[in-house]
Amino acid sequence: MATDIFETRESQVRSYSKNWPAVFDKAEGCYQFTEDGSRYLDFFSGAGALNYGHNLPELRDLVVDYVSNSGVTHSMDMNTPAKRRFLETFERVILEPRNLDYKVMFPGPTGTNTVEAALKLARKVTGRQHILSFTNAFHGMTLGALSVTGNSMKRKGAGIPLTNSSKIPYDDYFDGDIPDFIWLEKVLEDSGSGVDKPAAVIVETVQGEGGLNAARLEWLKELANLLRRHNILLIVDDVQAGCGRTGTFFSFEEAGIVPDIVCVSKSISGYGLAMALTLFKPELDVWEPGEHNGTFRGNNLAFVTAARALELFWADDSFQKELAGKIEELHTGMAKIAEHVRGASIRGRGFLSGICFPEPDTAGKVAAEAYKRNMLVETSGPKDEVVKLMPALNISSDDLQKGLQILEESVLAATGQLGEPSRLRPPH
Ligand code: PLP
Repeated sequence: MATDIFETRESQVRSYSKNWPAVFDKAEGCYQFTEDGSRYLDFFSGAGALNYGHNLPELRDLVVDYVSNSGVTHSMDMNTPAKRRFLETFERVILEPRNLDYKVMFPGPTGTNTVEAALKLARKVTGRQHILSFTNAFHGMTLGALSVTGNSMKRKGAGIPLTNSSKIPYDDYFDGDIPDFIWLEKVLEDSGSGVDKPAAVIVETVQGEGGLNAARLEWLKELANLLRRHNILLIVDDVQAGCGRTGTFFSFEEAGIVPDIVCVSKSISGYGLAMALTLFKPELDVWEPGEHNGTFRGNNLAFVTAARALELFWADDSFQKELAGKIEELHTGMAKIAEHVRGASIRGRGFLSGICFPEPDTAGKVAAEAYKRNMLVETSGPKDEVVKLMPALNISSDDLQKGLQILEESVLAATGQLGEPSRLRPPH
């Protein structure tokens, strides 16, 4: 099938299609199908935007009905029944059972939009400019989000100095050799330190792009306590780790902390539609009307699918319990695979996990071998040294095992321990 137009017309900036040149036409659950009928097992899940898989029938039917009935599609921030239903469901299913009282802001369609809104709000509320973020953090591609991102290649793309932010070491950055917050505590207390008091600290509980480093729960708790003592806002960027990825709806639940501001996007629509939320404590709601706005904040199709996804998966704890079993299955499988390579280790938490290889180029080779075997997995980390497994949270045990088997073969092939691939059978 023709791919010339992608080569000749589309910008060089594209990246996924370079590693995965197939032309994907249809998708269902954790499978994507190419134009010529090949089937690919998807352990990438739209980088976390498809936590419930592709085209979940209950959500697809709603989209079809909503469009067929001429429901309002675009509404800026005007009121619609779809937005009402989403907000009511979010309050009832997510906020109230967790004792969370957050105002909900629709900052724009993507993850980077919610990060920008969070940084702006923190600066406005505190009157301070400086933001602290962590080594290997990833928060998005717009200038504010890039300023708190670690990756040097992405930062360079800004083309201008990225200011008003500094990096501090994430959990275990020094391999446990240095007590966790010794530097931060000291400089915040020392008026001669020369470090401006920050407005906020922004953190991912698991660094999805930065190598699947998972902060320990006690480290997160200590961070939250330290910031509270110094009247500094805590922003949790749950764009990738949220919506169930780590095993609970918010990734910070297990740590028992309540961030001041939470960034949510990716899987909140449940259907891969663009949608983002910025959540913040009511006392932080100091925005002037329109002070932060944007054309695409009222994606009603996303509101419709988001409300139903919350009902389907989070209205009681049955899905979360089932997910806990699958997480165990995934981690057992990964540990077995890691044994094939000396020095390989498991990274991450929940269904945001992967295998880190001692030779940085192994992960890329494994992902390429997996692609040859009709499976999509990507890499993560500053040197792309981690193979990142992000299956849909509702994947069947059969498909999970199938993915682990392909991954095992791919690791063996990439490290010279296996012959030719055995391809998945195409669909009938
Ligand atoms: N924050 C985190 C933690 C992310 O992982 C990402 C994207 O991967 C973003 C923000 C940016 O989201 P988007 O690509 O939708 O702008």
